[in-house]
Formats: sequence, C-alpha cells, structure tokens
Amino acid sequence: MGRVYNFSAGPAVLPEEVLREAADEMLDYQGCGMSVMEMSHRSKVYDKIIKEAEKDIRDLMKIPDNYKVLFLQGGASQQFAMIPMNLMKNKKAGYIVTGQWAKKAFQEAQIYGEAVKLASSEDKTFSYIPDCSDLDIADDLDYVYICENNTIYGTKYKQLPNTKGHTLVADVSSCFLSEPVDVSKYGIIYGGVQKNVGPAGVVVVIIREDLITEDTLPGTPTMLKYKTHADAESLYNTPPCYGIYICGKVFQWLKKMGGLEEIQKRNMEKAKLLYDFLDQSEMFQGTVEPKDRSLMNVPFVTGDKELDAKFVAEAEKAGFVNLKGHRTVGGMRASIYNAMPKEGVEKLVSFMKQFEADNR
Ligand SMILES: *Cc1c(COP(=O)(O)O)cnc(C)c1O
Repeated sequence: MGRVYNFSAGPAVLPEEVLREAADEMLDYQGCGMSVMEMSHRSKVYDKIIKEAEKDIRDLMKIPDNYKVLFLQGGASQQFAMIPMNLMKNKKAGYIVTGQWAKKAFQEAQIYGEAVKLASSEDKTFSYIPDCSDLDIADDLDYVYICENNTIYGTKYKQLPNTKGHTLVADVSSCFLSEPVDVSKYGIIYGGVQKNVGPAGVVVVIIREDLITEDTLPGTPTMLKYKTHADAESLYNTPPCYGIYICGKVFQWLKKMGGLEEIQKRNMEKAKLLYDFLDQSEMFQGTVEPKDRSLMNVPFVTGDKELDAKFVAEAEKAGFVNLKGHRTVGGMRASIYNAMPKEGVEKLVSFMKQFEADNR
C-alpha cells in the first residue's frame, strides 16, 4: 500500500515533500557525514538549523522583536502548568473553557492559584464558542487563557476575547500556522507541533519579553522557567533536535508556498468543500454551530452509531484513515491540517457521496 489520506487529529499528516527531503538527508546531512539525529546540539551545523528555524517562523508569523520564540519539550500539556508557574503573580487567572484541552489547562492552574472560569460552552458539549465580547473580568487577573482551536470539538474563535487589557494566553496547537495571526494581541501563543507543524516532542512558545521574569512561583523547577530557556536560546539542555529540524523544513515549505496568507486560502477552500457537502447531505451532519466552525478539525455524525462505524470501516479500506471521532463526541472527525492536500478532501467528499447513495 502507498501513502494513505491520514485524517488523524494528531500526530498528523506532514507534507510529503518534507518527509522526502528528510529521508534524503537521513544518513548524511548536507555533507557532514551524519544524521541530524546524531549531531551535537552545540555543533555549528545544528546551530544553523535551529537559528534558521527560528528566523523562518518569525518571518512567517511576522513575530515582533519583543517576543521570544522558544522550542521546548513536554508537549502542550506541560504548558498547562508552566503558564501559571511563570505568570500567576497575583495567583489569579481567568480561563475560558471551550473544550477538553481548555478544561485541562483550567484544572491544572487550580494547583497553583485561583483559576476563574470566565465562560464555558460545556452546556452544549462544547459545540460553540461563547460570546467573549464583554466578560466580567476582575482587575487582578494575571492573564486570560483560551484554547483558540478546539481539536476535539471542531470549533475556533473567529474573534479573540475582549480581555479588557489583560494578557491573552492562547493554546494554538491545532491551528498553528494555519492562517495569518497578529502576534502583538497575545502575551503567549503556544502549540504542540504534532498537529500542524512537525513530529511530536516539540512545543513552540512565542512569548512577550516582559512576561519572562525571575519572579516565578516558589518551587518552580529550573526547566519550567521561561527565563531559563529564553536566556539560553532554547539550548539550556539538549532540545528535541530532530523534531526542531523537521519543524524548520515545514516552515520553509510554508514560506515557499507563499506563507500564511496562501495556506489560509488553501485551508478555506478545503474546509468549504467538506462543510458545503455536510450542509446539503441528508445523511451526514456537522456537529458544531456553523459560525464557530474550525478550518482544521471537522466533526460530523450520521446520527446512527452503526452507520458511523460502517462508514469509518469502509473509509479505511478505501484509504481514508483515522476518521473515527473522539470518544466524547462519537461519529467521525476529519482533521484537514495544512499538509492534507486538497485532493484528499475532494476524494473524501466523493467517497461520502457514494456512501450516502449506497446506504440510503
Ligand atoms: C493535542 C492538544 C493538546 C495536548 O498536546 P500534548 O502535546 O499531547 O500535550 C493540547 N491542546 C490542544 C489544543 C491540542 O490539540
């Protein structure tokens, strides 16, 4: 079997071009006689790899000079603790709970201080984004936290919350580099890269410099201080070298294509194909409020569990894999990240049409 169309929510599809390049360089990276996996993170060759990766993500996202870009480990989940440990000066922060990842971050923050739930969409199984234009936000909150794209439920903020002047912290794991972004609106933007950017094991944290201080909560481990990694330019200890190298290749792939404006255009086209089909189908329905639909994760159901299972099984046989929905939503979910070609979505839609005709 050749390559399949992989609709996994994460770890997820990567650009084939990037994988081929990495394969070509596997045994001998650009004439240095060894793999990137085998080289010292203190070597000149590796230094160039990580510096270029940083430069390329800065170019892509137009990251202002007063922000640091950190390549860290521990996944997005480690940030759930690292953020309060570093930012909770008043030991009080606001969380908008729009899904399981936001909820986990909210629960983790309670270990370190008072986490205030500012809004939630749990009443309707997280199928929408609450109105965040005029939330009741106390003055002494250290930050307001959101999960910008909800991987499991398939919703996305189309407008950032009005934080009333407070620092905005956003988990963008599943919409990272999927569209242009105004970094200056955030204090921290971070994401695990395994959804849209690279192999699992790297988390990228983009953080405004004034938030990087010695003044962390007592007991904060050295490795969990942003300052440790910022001062050492992500080389305090051995970073996830190979993963960063692949991220760098994905950044270059995006730059060559025309950057975030171009990928946004492509992502909108892909998502439209699928949503337009769902909106006219008599068998399949999308599960979220249309205005809050994610461009990256598209959950849908038939309303019949057996039919859902049949669809997932037949799709897999036809080369469309990992379409089973998250256990809390059921049904199906197609994650159509940056690296999913348009052709993959077109073929999925044709397959769904045929399935609908055959199973009416
Ligand atoms: C996958 C995911 C996480 C968890 O990522 P890990 O790297 O496994 O910790 C957190 N937030 C969002 C939005 C995700 O999609």
